[in-house]
Amino acid sequence: MLLIKNLRLPNFDTLTTSMGQMLIDGDRIVKIGSSIEAQAEVLDADGKLILPAMVDTHTHMVQSLTKGPLDDLNITDWLKKMLLVQWQLTEQEWYYGVLLGCLQSLRFGVTAINEMTYWNQIDAVAQAYKDAGIRATFGIGATDIAENEQVKVTPLEENLRQAEYLYNTYNGKGLLRTSVAPQGRPACTPELMKALHEFSSERGLIYHTHLAEGISETRKIRERTGRGEAEELNHLGVLDQRTVLAHSIWLENDEIGLIAQSGATVAHCPSTNMKLSDGVCRVSELLQSGARVAFGCDGEASSANRDLIREARLGSYLQKVTTLDPTVLPASQCFKMLTVGGAEALGYKDLGKLEEGCLADFSLVRTDDISTTNQARILTNLLYAGSGYQVDSVFVGGKSVMFEGELLHHDINKVMDKCESILDRVEYLLR
Ligand SMILES: [Zn+2]
Repeated sequence: MLLIKNLRLPNFDTLTTSMGQMLIDGDRIVKIGSSIEAQAEVLDADGKLILPAMVDTHTHMVQSLTKGPLDDLNITDWLKKMLLVQWQLTEQEWYYGVLLGCLQSLRFGVTAINEMTYWNQIDAVAQAYKDAGIRATFGIGATDIAENEQVKVTPLEENLRQAEYLYNTYNGKGLLRTSVAPQGRPACTPELMKALHEFSSERGLIYHTHLAEGISETRKIRERTGRGEAEELNHLGVLDQRTVLAHSIWLENDEIGLIAQSGATVAHCPSTNMKLSDGVCRVSELLQSGARVAFGCDGEASSANRDLIREARLGSYLQKVTTLDPTVLPASQCFKMLTVGGAEALGYKDLGKLEEGCLADFSLVRTDDISTTNQARILTNLLYAGSGYQVDSVFVGGKSVMFEGELLHHDINKVMDKCESILDRVEYLLR
């Protein structure tokens, strides 16, 4: 058992903190209070703020290798070049790309991710999640319609076989859960969208897809089907509480209500949406309609960001400026979306909360940064003036993966050197 003393405990409703202690046993929180008596190892948190698990609800980790060379491209060129590099990577290069992404997420206090990955080196990808020590829900980005010449299509039966392999090999093993991940309606036939939904429903898995990200792709779906993308997914019967919808930008008014009624969660990725000039997700209207919304960092080739606190700040600002209403997406709501909102989207009832019986995933955050001075307002200052770089120590399932700024199980310089050399090798493809 581990007793952590001298903690600053957050209240996301009042945005205040109070001093307290937390006792963990194995991978669970067993007690939280102002004073706890227990025979346990003791850790003095020295007044640091404790945050529950932050959850990244939409990522593509291998793209951490291609941050930089794909900057300032339009989405069509961006997608072609990104995929061109991706298909050239060896098994070991996939491993290091995913490891780099996961270690950055952990470094910023993100203990759980929802990942859309690819089939070609899947065992190396899963090994990277395991070695990073991150809680990963992951599925193969399935597609049976080629949007451009770099897209690799896979027949429906093969997509189901891959989902089955993933489920049998990795679901429920350690910190891993598997999902299904059709790339999105522009890249998938209705038959594939429905077959993967049936597969996930039978097994209680997350159904992770892109929705209405690009305006031209969304228009094409409307021309083909007479429906908007959300309307089309509802028509196909694949929108429900286990559905995670990345981006969800180009929605008609009635589609906002459809998403809210279905219980699906929108994964809002503001850095990607702004940097690729995709558009603005109508988050405040979705929330007002009762829809569930959480945050995602997306892949770094598009977002250049794995810091979920920064993502939430950008998401909040984007709503304030586009609605001309400073009260929308306030700090209180952002912290809930970052933590419990993301966890619920991935089907966890015991994650993203500092409560007895919940999983002991949390981070300890320094409050002595000059930018966040004003201890009485530390939560709002962290969101609006701070960053994930203030995260000092991170625990996943009761085990420390980063302590006092040091990742415990990896030589980060070695990982970075390895990734630099991979980028040097593939650089010629990007010229
Ligand atoms: Zn994506």
